[in-house]
Amino acid sequence: MAGPFDVIVIGAGPGGYIAAIRAAQLGFKTACIDEWQNGKGGPAPGGTCTNVGCIPSKALLQSSENYEHAGRHFADHGIGLSNLSIDVGKMLGRKDAVVKQNNDGILYLFKKNKVTFFHGRGAFSKAVEGGYEIAVSGPKAETLTGKQVIVATGSNPRALPGAAFDEEGILSNDGALRIPGVPKTLGVIGSGVIGLEMGSVWRRLGAEVTVLEALPTFLGAVDAQVAAEAHKAFIKQGLKIALGIKIDNVEKSRKGVAVSYADSKGSAQTLTCEKLIVSIGRVPNTAGLAPEAVGLELDERGFVAVDAECRTNLPGVWAIGDVVRGPMLAHKAEEEGVAVAERIAGQHPHIDFNTVPWVIYTSPEIAWVGQNEQQLKAAGRAYKAGTFPFMANGRARALGDTTGLVKFLADAKTDEILGVHMVGPMVSELIAEAVVAMEFRASAEDIARICHAHPSLSEATKEAALAIDKRTLNL
Ligand SMILES: Cc1cc2nc3c(=O)[nH]c(=O)nc-3n(C[C@H](O)[C@H](O)[C@H](O)COP(=O)(O)OP(=O)(O)OC[C@H]3O[C@@H](n4cnc5c(N)ncnc54)[C@H](O)[C@@H]3O)c2cc1C
Repeated sequence: MAGPFDVIVIGAGPGGYIAAIRAAQLGFKTACIDEWQNGKGGPAPGGTCTNVGCIPSKALLQSSENYEHAGRHFADHGIGLSNLSIDVGKMLGRKDAVVKQNNDGILYLFKKNKVTFFHGRGAFSKAVEGGYEIAVSGPKAETLTGKQVIVATGSNPRALPGAAFDEEGILSNDGALRIPGVPKTLGVIGSGVIGLEMGSVWRRLGAEVTVLEALPTFLGAVDAQVAAEAHKAFIKQGLKIALGIKIDNVEKSRKGVAVSYADSKGSAQTLTCEKLIVSIGRVPNTAGLAPEAVGLELDERGFVAVDAECRTNLPGVWAIGDVVRGPMLAHKAEEEGVAVAERIAGQHPHIDFNTVPWVIYTSPEIAWVGQNEQQLKAAGRAYKAGTFPFMANGRARALGDTTGLVKFLADAKTDEILGVHMVGPMVSELIAEAVVAMEFRASAEDIARICHAHPSLSEATKEAALAIDKRTLNL
C-alpha cells in the first residue's frame, strides 16, 4: 500500500502531468499513474499529445515541409538541388527521437517536482475514509490511497462503424504517424484538424491525397472567410477534397482499401487507396478506470460528467482534459490541470473557453480565438470587421509566403475585440498576441496603437486592427 497521497492523478497526458506538477508545487504529496508503454514496454508519459498527437505530428509536418520547400521553393532563392530524396525511415526515426525527448523530459520533471510516478493502469477500487483507494495494475502492481483524485485519462480515436482500425490499411492517428513508406494513394475520412495535418504530411512527400468530408462546408467551425482562403490554398497544392459525402462501405482489398460513398449529388463513387486515415473525431477514454466501483458519473456520451470547475459528482474527485466536455486540445487540458490543483489548494482560478486559441498546423497555418463572423451574425451582435492580407506584408514577401490574411472582429460600439482569425505563415505564433489582447479585453484600437517590429508578420495583426476603422497604412 503506497500513500496516503494528498493528490493522485490518473493519466500523464498534458492534462495529468501538468496537474501533478502544479499540485506538487503547491506542497501536496502527489502521485501520477500512466499506462502508456514505449516500444520496449517502458513508461512513455505525455499521453496522446506526446506519443501519437501534437508532438509527432508537428515533427512530421516540419520534415515534410522542409522536403516540399527544398523541392518546390529553394529554386526561387537561387538554391539548386539535384537528386532530392526522402528517407522515410530516417524521418520517422527523428520523429520518434523527438517523442522520446518529451517522454524523458516529463519523467525528469516528475523527479524534479517530487511527483511519485507509477507505470501501469489506475482503477478506482473503493471509497475509503477521507479519500479513495486506487489499484495500479501493470509491471508493478500497487494499491494507493489518496485524498483527492484527478482523472485525466484522455481520449481514443473514433472508428467508422464496420471498419475497425488495423493500422495497416485503415489507420487511426497512431498508424498515420508511422506509415513506413510514402503511399501512392491516401484516403482521409474527415477534414478536421488531424485529417488535414496528416493528409498534408503525406501529400508533401508525394502521395495523392483525397479527403472525404461528410459536412457540406469546409472547416465549418472556422470563420468562413478564413476557411475559404485555406480551402483555395489546399486545392492549389493538389489536395482533393470532397464535401457533403456519405460513406456507404469501407472494405479492405488486395490493393489497399476501397471506400464506397455517395457524393454531394447523391451519385455512387468509390475511392480506392493504398492507405486510409480515419479521423472522424475522438471518444473519451474511461476503459479500465472502473468508474462504477465508486459511482463516478459519466454523461450520455461517455465523458466524465463535470461542472464548470471540473468537479465530478464525487467529493474529492475531479476530471480534466479530453475525458471531459470542451475543446479537445492539449493546452485546454493543461489549463484545467493547473486550475484543479489550485482549487484543491483553495485558490480561485478561472478558465475562459472563449479565449482558448485553436490552431491547425497545415501550410498555410490556420489559427483563431474568440467568435467568428457566422457566430456573431447568428447572435445578432453588431460588429465591425477588418482584414489585412499577407500579400501586403514585407516580411511575408521576403519569406516567399504571402498566402492568407489576418481578420479582426470588434464590437461595433465599444471596439472590444470579439475574435481574431488568421490563415497564413506562422499564424500559430501570431495568435498569442490576440489571446493576450482578448484576455485583457482590449479594443482593436489598442492593438492598432501598439508598436510592432518591422519587418515582421505581426505587422499584419496591427494592420488588420487598423482595418477595423478603415485606416490601414500599407494597403
Ligand atoms: C494527431 C493528433 C494531433 C494533435 N495535435 C494537437 C495540437 O497540435 N494541439 C493541441 O492542442 N492538441 C492536439 N491534439 C489533441 C491533444 O493530443 C489532446 O487534446 C490531449 O492529448 C488531451 O490531453 P489529456 O491529458 O486529456 O489526455 P491524453 O493526452 O489522451 O492522455 C491521457 C493519458 O492517460 C493514460 N490513461 C488512460 N487511462 C488510464 C488509466 N486507467 N490508468 C493509467 N493511465 C491511463 C493514457 O495512456 C494517456 O497517457 C492532437 C491529437 C491528435 C490525435
